[in-house]
Amino acid sequence: MESFDVVVIGGGPAGMAAALGAAECSILKEYDEAQSISPPRDGRSEFTSQAPKVALVERALMLGGILNQCTHYGFGLTYFGEELTGQEYAKRFIDKVSASDIRILTDTTVMEINPDRTLTITGVDGGFRKIKANAVILATGCRERPIGALPVAGSRPSGVFTAGAAQKMLNLGGYDIGDKFVILGSGDVGLIVARELAQRGKEVITVIEREAFCGGLERNRMNCLERYGISLNTLTTVSKVHGSSRITGVTVVDMTGNENHIECDALITSVGLIPERELLDTFTTPLIERETTVAAPRSSRLLPDWLFLCGNAAYVHDLVDDVTIESEQAGRMACAFSMASRFDSTLHAISYSMSSMDHTPLLGAGGMPLGSVECNSDNHMYAADMSASRDSSRAQIGATPLTSKVVCIACPKECEAHITDKGWVGLACGRKVPVVVEQTN
Ligand SMILES: Cc1cc2nc3c(=O)[nH]c(=O)nc-3n(C[C@H](O)[C@H](O)[C@H](O)COP(=O)(O)OP(=O)(O)OC[C@H]3O[C@@H](n4cnc5c(N)ncnc54)[C@H](O)[C@@H]3O)c2cc1C
Repeated sequence: MESFDVVVIGGGPAGMAAALGAAECSILKEYDEAQSISPPRDGRSEFTSQAPKVALVERALMLGGILNQCTHYGFGLTYFGEELTGQEYAKRFIDKVSASDIRILTDTTVMEINPDRTLTITGVDGGFRKIKANAVILATGCRERPIGALPVAGSRPSGVFTAGAAQKMLNLGGYDIGDKFVILGSGDVGLIVARELAQRGKEVITVIEREAFCGGLERNRMNCLERYGISLNTLTTVSKVHGSSRITGVTVVDMTGNENHIECDALITSVGLIPERELLDTFTTPLIERETTVAAPRSSRLLPDWLFLCGNAAYVHDLVDDVTIESEQAGRMACAFSMASRFDSTLHAISYSMSSMDHTPLLGAGGMPLGSVECNSDNHMYAADMSASRDSSRAQIGATPLTSKVVCIACPKECEAHITDKGWVGLACGRKVPVVVEQTN
């Protein structure tokens, strides 16, 4: 059976960054067991160097994950200091991974993570088999909540797509998926797909949102809806789908119960992302624990210490740059754990190799602290998720107008900007002329 220090499941931005973080973990040195002395805490010279053996397993034909279908700009500002398309961002990491010693297994699916640290995999290269790992990183991303999970009446005709599926068909398949669209859900993915349809000359009738505010970034609301004259109907939802073989329309209902029929031949749903963590079912049986983010220490304690999570599999991220930064750390930690588990004095080695890594604050949009990667008492990585608090501040927009602020929407960082006699301040990018929009908060 092939054996690795670290096996990363999922070859999206999280998996690629984690694999690179693990492979580049050069501070790790193997302790020469023949000398049978404890590894010193400070004397790194007594360790002999050894590169970790890392595998990256991806079920798709190529690495890149969801980024492969993202032809729009909005990626890379925090990490690379420049704005890239999703495909360009992915390409930089695909090139890096391809040039490294990481064993890449594409077209290969991980079927099961077993308690004995073996993984059951199946793929073109080697068929159905098991591989062994000292540490495993789950970077499987998330999937979209389907319309079947919503209380929407009516039949299930063709022409109803999740936003991600629609984007894949449009951008990668070149399919024509309809002419008159209603979008359900105003999160970033729904807004971006609305724009992509409008750019193709399709009629996007409206975006339906059950909350009182737009769910996506202000930048995306401006650039994807306002710029293309697409209306946003808040405090409404789709209550019924009409049509037998193909969708012919939807019933939209508002909070007071008023119903409105809209004719359309396609409905795009963008109603939430669910972290893809079914492979953990072996370890986390109670349903309630599966509903909590694994980023929280409570649920991470249910996992074995050799299992790490990162990217959207840990919790849903707005920005891929944050995914990359956190996942690199997860990779380094998994590698440190793996190498340390070769020694008897595991704790020694872990604290030694992790001393520069734990409790490192992560920067999110606008340089705001996003969360931190820490080790709990089981030496298990978790990323403290502060995205919820960011969402609640965003949720205030338009809901309870208190004061006004000026926000730059030139990039996804959405910095709050102020004009002074010295020019614009508060812009993390140092831009001289921001693209500003006034918001209430
Ligand atoms: C439409 C859209 C627009 C976006 N726009 C932006 C933007 O403008 N700016 C920005 O910064 N971010 C944006 N994002 C967010 C960003 O793309 C995500 O945060 C990022 O892709 C998450 O990375 P990930 O690696 O966790 O997940 P993914 O990219 O989903 O990768 C997960 C990978 O795991 C693989 N996998 C799953 N299960 C298995 C298994 N059992 N075995 C093997 N492989 C498996 C999948 O095939 C997939 O390749 C956007 C996302 C979408 C969907």
